[in-house]
Amino acid sequence: MGETRSIDIFQLLLESSGRKRRRSEVLSSLGIKEHFIDGDIEIDKRTCRGVDCQLCIKVCPTNALYWGYGQINIIKDLCIHCTACVLICMVDDCIKVTRKRANNKVESFSNPRQVFRLLQSIGSEKRLGIVNRIFQSRRFS
Ligand code: SF4
Ligand code: SF4
Repeated sequence: MGETRSIDIFQLLLESSGRKRRRSEVLSSLGIKEHFIDGDIEIDKRTCRGVDCQLCIKVCPTNALYWGYGQINIIKDLCIHCTACVLICMVDDCIKVTRKRANNKVESFSNPRQVFRLLQSIGSEKRLGIVNRIFQSRRFS
């Protein structure tokens, strides 16, 4: 009869909450505020220009990226999913950032156009909000 492996769910929860605490301690010591409740980052090492580029390392605000063992490495616990690295990367689909907003909306970026599109739509929404507020204030004045 095969041996059944039991998972200690309480230990797992304890470990993950400790990790979250350490992460927020490190980020707050850097003066960095988290804007997304969850996220992930992947780098395709096959398409990365590596040692000739390293632009992503230079723009990362938290030093989550570093050069070592002949490749780009990620300290995922330091990544705040800001997408600065996606914006600067010269290779489409090399870096992929996925993040979840407070309203549970999931966003995914793997090239600068997707980031610009989001920034543009945020800008449009803000402008629309301003126009609506002006319109409402004129209607009731
Ligand atoms: S910016 Fe892109 S291509 Fe350049 S090192 Fe970083 S992941 Fe590689
Ligand atoms: S998403 Fe932002 S914090 Fe994360 S690795 Fe890229 S530049 Fe650094």
